[in-house]
Amino acid sequence: MKVYKFGGASVKDAENVKNVGEVLRTVGYADCLLIASAMGKTTNALEVVVDNYFQYPFDLDKSVDLVKAYHLAILNDLFPGNHDVYQALEEQFESLTSFLAHNKSPNYNFVYDQIVSYGELLSTVILHHYLQLCGIGNTWIDARNLIKTDLTYRDANVQWDLTCAAITQTIDKKELYITQGFIGSDYNGFSTTLGREGSDYSAAIFAYALNAESVTIWKDVPGVLNADPRYFEETTLLEQISYQEAIELAFYGASVIHPKTLQPLRQKEIPLYVKSFINPTLGGTSVSKGAHLKPAIPCFIVKKNQLLISLSSKDFSFIMEQNISDIFKLFGEYNIKVNVIQNSAISFSVCVEDKFNHFEELRQKLNAHYRVSYNENVSLYTIRHFDEASADRILTDKTLLLKQVNRETMQMVMKE
Ligand code: ASP
Ligand code: MG
Repeated sequence: MKVYKFGGASVKDAENVKNVGEVLRTVGYADCLLIASAMGKTTNALEVVVDNYFQYPFDLDKSVDLVKAYHLAILNDLFPGNHDVYQALEEQFESLTSFLAHNKSPNYNFVYDQIVSYGELLSTVILHHYLQLCGIGNTWIDARNLIKTDLTYRDANVQWDLTCAAITQTIDKKELYITQGFIGSDYNGFSTTLGREGSDYSAAIFAYALNAESVTIWKDVPGVLNADPRYFEETTLLEQISYQEAIELAFYGASVIHPKTLQPLRQKEIPLYVKSFINPTLGGTSVSKGAHLKPAIPCFIVKKNQLLISLSSKDFSFIMEQNISDIFKLFGEYNIKVNVIQNSAISFSVCVEDKFNHFEELRQKLNAHYRVSYNENVSLYTIRHFDEASADRILTDKTLLLKQVNRETMQMVMKE
């Protein structure tokens, strides 16, 4: 069995939904499980519904109507007016509005999952009917009956035994199935979600349970590139990488494939393909065990908006284990992510990301014990498999503030 994942961008409008049919016809769909995300930016739109529910009840109906109008416009482009899909969509919205009317729970994360999970339910209901309409027979499955999780709403942990048992009992490998990414359910049957962008992870969970032959993530790019096209003019498709390399790239900040997604695949050595839904016959990227990076070229990862902090002791004493451990504890407490560390006799430098704007508070604390200097708004460039040319390529018209090199990886903090 093969697992195919179609993300939000691949089903964002009627044209793209039609294209899913095209892709399936082109590459074949016997013995496949399709996982889909919510259409386009629906998850964000449903997050607005959640916020209105709690804070701006007067705007609640309007935000639900927006989500509905968006899906209805897609339906109007795909189906004749009397098609069953309209009723199916109506039922999803009735179920959502009934939740909004009757819910008593004040738990934000719980409510979030009950609401936001409709994005994937809506998209898969539409895909199911559309594919049927084009003669691609398929069975729609509610992933919440199969992906069983704990009660950690918005970042639920999979209960693997229950999940694998449910999946293998339900899925008879000889058919085309369609189900939702991102969502599952708790012991009481309430919806849970696996964290934003969690649909890839769902694909990996299903693949793991089914011992699938492969997972394919269909994207609007040709595959995994060696650099982010937003920051680099020249990029090259990585035809082949290992799980290990993909995990390394993700660790340094590449938005390739989340390690959480890779882990179950790596355990069962299920290959992962990242391919273009625009040109589905092209090879794309294959991620598998021990694969040599092909082509063997440097890979660039950029993290913007970093903070470079240097601490030195006020009395010129060395910064040693105890200090470092105290400093790290503080970074943890203030939710500041440390990306690079460099230590010398009396100074200790870290490149960090202050997503939640806690640095000012932290700085006050650090000031009591250390001399603190810092550069704001710097960029962290990481090059995997660097060579001289690749380092030079990055250094042009930037000021190097800190550099760290090990066998495979060069990191440079720079002011642009
Ligand atoms: N729809 C969810 C999100 O936008 C899950 C996903 O797309 O993977 O985060
Ligand atoms: Mg998405």
